[in-house]
Amino acid sequence: MTDSALLSPPPYTGRFAPSPTGPLHFGSLLAALASYLDARAHDGRWLLRIENLDPPREDPDAADSILRTLEHYGFCYDGPVRYQSERHDAYQAILQQLIDQQQAFPCQCSRKQLNGHPHRGNCHCPAAKDIAWRFLSPAEGEFCFDDSLQGRWCEAFADIGDFVLKRRDGPWSYQLAVIADDIDQGVTHVVRGIDLIDSSARQALLYQALGQPLPHWTHIPVALEHNGQKLSKQNLARPLDNADASQTLYAALTWLRQQPPPTLQGAPAHELLSWAVNHWQQAPLRGLQALPAADAFCRS
Ligand code: GLU
Repeated sequence: MTDSALLSPPPYTGRFAPSPTGPLHFGSLLAALASYLDARAHDGRWLLRIENLDPPREDPDAADSILRTLEHYGFCYDGPVRYQSERHDAYQAILQQLIDQQQAFPCQCSRKQLNGHPHRGNCHCPAAKDIAWRFLSPAEGEFCFDDSLQGRWCEAFADIGDFVLKRRDGPWSYQLAVIADDIDQGVTHVVRGIDLIDSSARQALLYQALGQPLPHWTHIPVALEHNGQKLSKQNLARPLDNADASQTLYAALTWLRQQPPPTLQGAPAHELLSWAVNHWQQAPLRGLQALPAADAFCRS
């Protein structure tokens, strides 16, 4: 390897990582679109990962429906789709490393028993059959990072507590699995909704424990229903209509403050995406945490 190869930063790698709890809706399209545009505008790779680690919460048809919708909307991802359900051994290896480093410990208390303060000192509950594994967080201090849209963002370790790595009922936690795959897949840039920004500090602790460099974080605003709630599968947001890809993409670009020209209304999805890659700018979204969604995309 040459000196310049050693010094140059790793190539931009972004990703979209939906949980298959239902079909894509306008809110999830925004995360897909922003991560895609940011990656392609940087000549980067864009990976697709299905985060299917919690079968009881999942819809068995959702993963296929998500793939079909992304195709209708003109998104091309790099490489094969990754399914987290096939990655248990990798997650176990990371848990083992953290146990060996004494940064993970077993805890049999429920969240309720821990009374909202899940710190190691509290973890003395009557032994139960199942134990969870928790990450041993620092008791004091805070983690701060510079989000490209939200600016300086800090989280106190006291608020984070010793978060779960593997749940008592079996599944791997989102925090452990997401960093395991982001590291393994060489993800350098994470672009997702601001509803996940509080996870960044937990994830940073895991990156640091594993001696890995942190990714760049960009948290886009969330789309809101009329009642001010986040557009989400739980709130029954309307599924995206594959037949309406062009109109919906145009609306999503407008929502992301990208100002697509009126002449592109009705253009095929791939044309809209290609315009958007060439004109992508983050600046109009800077500091925004939430924006209303149009009626057509709200609760059906
Ligand atoms: N799987 C998560 C979700 O669907 C997103 C993970 C991430 O982008 O970090 O909410």
